[in-house]
Amino acid sequence: MRGLIADILPFSVSDGPGIRTSVFFKGCPLRCAWCHNPEDQLPGRQVMVRFSACLRCGACSVCPGGARGSAGEYDMTRCTGCGTCVSLCPAGACRMHGQYMDAEEVASRVLRDRPFFRSRGGATLTGGEPLSQAAFARDVAQRLHAEGVHVLVETCGFVPWEAFQAVLPFVDGFLYDWKITDPQAHRHWTGQDNRLILNNLRRLDREGADIVLRCPVIPGVNDTQAHFRGIGQLTEELPRIRHVDILPYHPLGNDKRGQLGLEKDGFHAPDAADVLSWKEQLQRLCCVPVRT
Ligand code: SF4
Ligand code: SF4
Repeated sequence: MRGLIADILPFSVSDGPGIRTSVFFKGCPLRCAWCHNPEDQLPGRQVMVRFSACLRCGACSVCPGGARGSAGEYDMTRCTGCGTCVSLCPAGACRMHGQYMDAEEVASRVLRDRPFFRSRGGATLTGGEPLSQAAFARDVAQRLHAEGVHVLVETCGFVPWEAFQAVLPFVDGFLYDWKITDPQAHRHWTGQDNRLILNNLRRLDREGADIVLRCPVIPGVNDTQAHFRGIGQLTEELPRIRHVDILPYHPLGNDKRGQLGLEKDGFHAPDAADVLSWKEQLQRLCCVPVRT
């Protein structure tokens, strides 16, 4: 089976225990305003342009979509992903992001890193949203599971329950994003409300899955007592949540937003005192360990 992969990165130490290889699936059903992988949102290949490397030569002005001007100006909303500019650009400023791969190819790429996994590491399927390509994710997970590799899935949870059912037998745990407790605010900041996400989280818990709740905290969006209380209540209600990870906002996505022709996201990184305060508040409210 083939699927669309954004990237495969070895030596990750932030996507689960030990040293892991992270497989980034392309395509996500949410549009989180603070997303640090905006290049992985669309479910198709797309061009990214390092405008700082552009020579303004105008070679890409033949763009059939009318996205590129003769002096290097651009409107990437008109890009159709045809790849013409990638082949013409003399500066290497344009690149195509995303490639179609076989599940077998993905698994063998991960297995090359197996010596580094030792007893705690493994593979993490992330993205984007890996379960938006559920059959492909299942195929990859099944192949790795058969080789004895520890497999985690990092998910936004906004997928049909059947997507979870597909991978459950081949996955050792889930890194489950919980972004905003209030459904209306969730819709405002991510494009969708959180009811499906909450239902899937509860079902996963009933299935006995191993769950780490991953909570991005964005100043001015969800650094509120009400949301923190909501996280605490989830840890009391759902016994399979092993711990809570705080993911403080990081402006990492802004450079990539620029390469996609998008404005900066407009958020500001918290300072160390903010992060410590969030951790202390959550430690008081949660019945499982809270990590940063
Ligand atoms: S890939 Fe390049 S040439 Fe093709 S539509 Fe997009 S910007 Fe234009
Ligand atoms: S072809 Fe490359 S260097 Fe020339 S204008 Fe387009 S992006 Fe810039």
